[in-house]
Amino acid sequence: MIIKEVTKYLESKFPLYFQEEFDNCGVQCGNIYQEISGVMVCFEMSEKIIDEAISKKCNLIISHHPLILRKGINKIVPSDRVGGMICKALKNDIVLYSMHTNIDSGEGGGNDYFAKMLKLGNVRVLSPHSNLFRKLIVNVPHQYSEKLKKALFEIGCGTQGNYDNCCYSQLGKGQFKPNKAANPFIGENNIVEIVDEEHLEMIYPTHLQHSVIQTIYENHPYEEPAFDLLALENESKNIGLGRIGELDKEMEISDFLGYLKKTLNISVLRYCGDEYKKVKTVAICGGGGSGFIDLAIAQGADAYVSGDFKYHDFFKSHSGTLLVDIGHYEGESFIKNIIFNLLKEKFTNFATLISETEELSVRYF
Ligand SMILES: [Zn+2]
Repeated sequence: MIIKEVTKYLESKFPLYFQEEFDNCGVQCGNIYQEISGVMVCFEMSEKIIDEAISKKCNLIISHHPLILRKGINKIVPSDRVGGMICKALKNDIVLYSMHTNIDSGEGGGNDYFAKMLKLGNVRVLSPHSNLFRKLIVNVPHQYSEKLKKALFEIGCGTQGNYDNCCYSQLGKGQFKPNKAANPFIGENNIVEIVDEEHLEMIYPTHLQHSVIQTIYENHPYEEPAFDLLALENESKNIGLGRIGELDKEMEISDFLGYLKKTLNISVLRYCGDEYKKVKTVAICGGGGSGFIDLAIAQGADAYVSGDFKYHDFFKSHSGTLLVDIGHYEGESFIKNIIFNLLKEKFTNFATLISETEELSVRYF
């Protein structure tokens, strides 16, 4: 079995197009067409973890944080932190792979897991993704519609949440007059032709646009297929960063902070807010979520729990929302368990391990 089969499975659960624009999820370096020998899962890559993977015969390392972001790096030299890891991985035929904001945003990913840990109910996405999908409208002669639909479904069109093969169709009349240079599939030159056509509508992931166009030209019988590709304003209600939901019952702030520390197994947190307010509606975002403070406030959260808040961010709690900074790592350290469980449940023909040499980069004293 080659490594690509594993990454393909992971991407079927958490597609790369779920990632944020700045991000660079997926392969960081290495050859995914080699046989897989074992997988090591970690939060943050390090040379120590690569050494551990070598000793345990794992040639795929999956981390949460990517080594390289979308803006890229200028050089790869062993003396740099990132360059050193890349050089070591390539020298030892190890593939480095990351699941970052794609797993944060996706269903069953980091933020869903976080919400589940806090036992939040009625969980919604705090910052739903937009522009993930576009709409295809295409008219096709009735007897050719099944072939075209099948080809479009095969490349990933018409999938919405847990449903695939989704489309809307309606019978109608299409008309055209081929000019003398045309080579019409139906009809004759210089004569108006009226054809029973099916009007198909389906959504597709935005990043597939090139394949959609190619598939239409390959499977539509007309010399000049008529189709529209439309941008959509719709938000994806199940995909995006952060979550918001309700606690089982209202809590005093001190009880809520204690509940966070106990549930997340943390010894310290920073917070700011009205000590006498009660907490029922809770917004969360694993990792660094200071960018969503305003959204949490706007959506009526009694508390917003995330990491990497700056000193001045805390003053936004004046609005009435308790702001709690649990730390960056502390809100997403469990993501490696999600990846580990995904692989363990699906694959039995190679070892999946969680790194035992990973150390916390930022500690508290
Ligand atoms: Zn992070």
